[in-house]
Amino acid sequence: MVQSSVLGFPRMGANRELKKATEAYWAGKATVESLLETGKTLRAAHWKIQKDAGVDLIPSNDFSFYDQVLDHILMFNAIPERYTKYNLPPLDVLFAMGRGLQKKETESSPAIDVTSLEMVKWFDSNYHYVRPTFQDNQEFKLNSTKPIDEFKEAKELGITTRPVILGPVSFLQLGKADRGQSVTPIDLLEKLLPVYEELLTKLAEAGAESVQIDEPVLVLDLPEATKKAFETAYSKLGKLSSAPKLVLATYFGDIVHNIDVIPSISHLYGLHIDLVRAPEQLSDVLKAIGDKQVLSVGVVDGRNIWKTNFSKAIGLVESAVHTIGAERVIVATSSSLLHTPHTLESEKNLDPEVADWFSFATEKCKEVVIIAKAVSDGAETVAEEIKSNAASVTARATSKRTNDAAVKDRQAKITEEMYNRKSPFPDRIAAQSKTLNLPKFPTTTIGSFPQTSEIRVQRNKFTKKQITAEEYEKFIEKEIDDVIAIQEEIGLDVLVHGEPERNDMVQYFGERLHGYVFTTNAWVQSYGSRCVRPPIIVGDISRPAAMTVKGSKYAQSKTKKPMKGMLTGPVTCLRWSFPRDDVHQSVQAEQLALALRDEVIDLEKAGIYVIQVDEPAIREGFPLRKGKERDDYLTWAVNSFKLATAGVENGTQIHSHFCYSDFQDMFSLISNLDADVLSIENSKSDAKLLNVFKKEEYPRHIGPGVYDIHSPRIPSYDEIKNRIEEMLQYLKPEQLWIDPDCGLKTRQWTETKPSLTNMVNAAKHFREKY
Ligand code: GLN
Ligand code: ZN
Repeated sequence: MVQSSVLGFPRMGANRELKKATEAYWAGKATVESLLETGKTLRAAHWKIQKDAGVDLIPSNDFSFYDQVLDHILMFNAIPERYTKYNLPPLDVLFAMGRGLQKKETESSPAIDVTSLEMVKWFDSNYHYVRPTFQDNQEFKLNSTKPIDEFKEAKELGITTRPVILGPVSFLQLGKADRGQSVTPIDLLEKLLPVYEELLTKLAEAGAESVQIDEPVLVLDLPEATKKAFETAYSKLGKLSSAPKLVLATYFGDIVHNIDVIPSISHLYGLHIDLVRAPEQLSDVLKAIGDKQVLSVGVVDGRNIWKTNFSKAIGLVESAVHTIGAERVIVATSSSLLHTPHTLESEKNLDPEVADWFSFATEKCKEVVIIAKAVSDGAETVAEEIKSNAASVTARATSKRTNDAAVKDRQAKITEEMYNRKSPFPDRIAAQSKTLNLPKFPTTTIGSFPQTSEIRVQRNKFTKKQITAEEYEKFIEKEIDDVIAIQEEIGLDVLVHGEPERNDMVQYFGERLHGYVFTTNAWVQSYGSRCVRPPIIVGDISRPAAMTVKGSKYAQSKTKKPMKGMLTGPVTCLRWSFPRDDVHQSVQAEQLALALRDEVIDLEKAGIYVIQVDEPAIREGFPLRKGKERDDYLTWAVNSFKLATAGVENGTQIHSHFCYSDFQDMFSLISNLDADVLSIENSKSDAKLLNVFKKEEYPRHIGPGVYDIHSPRIPSYDEIKNRIEEMLQYLKPEQLWIDPDCGLKTRQWTETKPSLTNMVNAAKHFREKY
């Protein structure tokens, strides 16, 4: 019999109860008991959903108050001393590592001021984990019994679960040496393994029959030492006399390039692979696993919101069954469902046509069960479900939304010229200096100005129809008038309208494009208590009407200085949405690019001669491994930006913005965009990173951020001046722009005005000097 399993369930709750409870606790408005109680209630509810769906292998220890990797840091006592010295309760230590802690001195306790551990993207998802941070003399011990406690908790509810733990190789490999330390994390393996042995033994004693041990690093390019670590770790853990059956789980890619690691894990009970992301790995893995091991096949997408195509999934599972027998196959979600929203039930406003195409976490649990049943008991036992699934799949494939002939026709007609500006940069910049007439060291900002509570109040009123579209528009125009007046007073050179009308840089455009839909409650965890609600690309994308032209034109009419038009780039629109899974991402990026191209050209026609197309997400789309996928990405990501921007005349200046500074591995991508001006984050990193622009003789203009916009601190004139001085070691005076790190929407006016004034004055200093 084929079993069904889920690798992890979202933690936040149907109505983000966990977010509300943790934030109330942080704000001192709720007790630790009530927070713990919320956690317990949510775990019980989530187990019950899976139990009711009929899932055979239900995960535990997938719950976390902040992040699952952080839980392991605490559990293995890999806690830097700066967090332990205050003798805080464990949960507070956990939060201090996750988000930092600042507390004033009281009679009974000293002042506390610690920053958080580093937070990094979890592979190529939009989830972020807390990075383990090790000392040269690192020791480990079992410091918490969370997996055991949660296993017992479920057992008391009558549910036998399969605990999930992060494997030792991934735990180390995903970590780093603490500041001032030089340890190579993987070298700590021998010290760490006894703690895993203890944990697994205790889980067995508590009654756990099997354990899911996550080793997602197996999908990456691994150094030899890390590959060897698999052998060391699993020859030990696999041979424990009293351990549960271990299923080693990989996800977000294929493991074929690391297939030589398989023999060292082939004595474990089972292996899980992601067949949604990499179906072609099945035959290689089947050959490699030997004649006993169980294979868990991830055929239900843990990263997206689409209904599983049952006939395809059943076909894959059957081919595994055919080779190794039903007893050795488990049907599973491709990864944890952490990356999907809780339930489709909460969506009351979706068009029924598209709602029929979706499946969120709760629905996906039912999908694994149906697929397992179809394979075990025969398709006829779930005939109804298979029939209705096939109907949804056909409806989606044949819908007008996914088959817009006009969009496809336009894509087919894209020509080589459309990717390239009319002339090379030297001609363009000459033309631009005539149109724009800018001083040396031109100053600008990245787009948004403070989103005041007044702006949010008015937007809310408008959404709730408490004010008319006209009233709202008047309000927005007044906001634009104000930011223009302020920018003129400060003396900035290229102005912006301040983006007061934008709720979110992707949602704003998605709402104005065909091919997108929006949910009301489909939140997914981004990090800690923070959740995002990505728009969904459901069909071919096109632009029914201009999106920003009216606003930009209005803004330009209010000033003699150049007004910068502000758009979100195709890759960022794609990356921060749930993409389609029926066409390649490059196709979707190209459609977005064509829509944006029209907008760029319309802006130019309306007299906007500086246009910024933001691509802050272009880096995170970078495929995890070297090779074809990455090379292809470099081509299509760059092409979509060029397609969006290259339709303008030489005298129109294209800007782009990126929220990170380390370009070493991305330099060619950034350079190939051929943007006239780049603004990048730089103030918090070493100016030396700019050396790549010097070394590669980057020919175009660039504005590395001169101050950090994430902090309320006001940078002084001298500080900015010194920063610019440093930049001039790497960049030529005639190519340097002066701007902040990113948009100012999260700042207050009281910080923004003096900061920008100091910035403009610093630029003036260099204008006189050069
Ligand atoms: N133009 C956007 C802003 O200023 C850019 C935001 C971003 O880079 N994330 O807010
Ligand atoms: Zn930014």
